[in-house]
Amino acid sequence: MYIDTHVQLNFSDFDEDRVTVIANAKKAGVKQFIVPGVDHNSCRTALHLAKAHPGVIYAAAGYHPYEAPKNPDLSYIETLLNDPENKEYIVAVGECGLDYHEYRGEVAAGRKDVQERLFTDQLTIATKFDLPVIIHCREAFDDVFTILQKLPAIPRGVFHCFSGSQQDLRIAVDMGFFIGIDGNVTYSKQLPMVVPFIPIDSLVLETDAPYLTPVPHRGKRNEPKYIPLVAAKVAELQKKPIDEIMTATTANAQRLFSV
Ligand SMILES: [Zn+2]
Repeated sequence: MYIDTHVQLNFSDFDEDRVTVIANAKKAGVKQFIVPGVDHNSCRTALHLAKAHPGVIYAAAGYHPYEAPKNPDLSYIETLLNDPENKEYIVAVGECGLDYHEYRGEVAAGRKDVQERLFTDQLTIATKFDLPVIIHCREAFDDVFTILQKLPAIPRGVFHCFSGSQQDLRIAVDMGFFIGIDGNVTYSKQLPMVVPFIPIDSLVLETDAPYLTPVPHRGKRNEPKYIPLVAAKVAELQKKPIDEIMTATTANAQRLFSV
């Protein structure tokens, strides 16, 4: 079986057919789903879904760097994590991080210092609650590493949708982080140069659905049922049998999220 370690089943893209999407993923061997929050409402929906599908869907609570300019109140996350009733449903803090990708000449998520504060506060929450952190890092690896190294304790976690260089990979793995690979591995020029070097014990699979639809379904909405396509490409790049990729990545996801 597979685990989709990053899938936005909490987004409205799935409002019409969420139950079918989950059923089709299960038919394809994808049996569990980690659903991260990106803002207040998506955290609430992720938790709601986890409670409706116990043992199948797990939630993460966090604020995406795109939320940084709105200066969100993180006490909501702490309230969720403090509630003992939520303990078995919320397995991580995230997604959170830094996103410096430019859009029309501006850093997508506003000022860097505002992003840094939102990220650091969530790293502190992860450590406080002894939870793994799901890191979103886009064109910001140096600053993410600097922030992590400044912390009194580095939380465990995953670099979701990894897009770094071989050197970024080495640093992340040395810090104990897992590396999440998505459907863009089937069409990216950069990822095939990095994926062969990911230690198999550090690798997890994700779709980031509804985004990053793998070949040959590009242009359509992504779904968790496509995890085997991600696994197949990773297996090809790592020169390993797909069964070995499946077994290892599932065990890694279970270890990372304690599911
Ligand atoms: Zn992300």
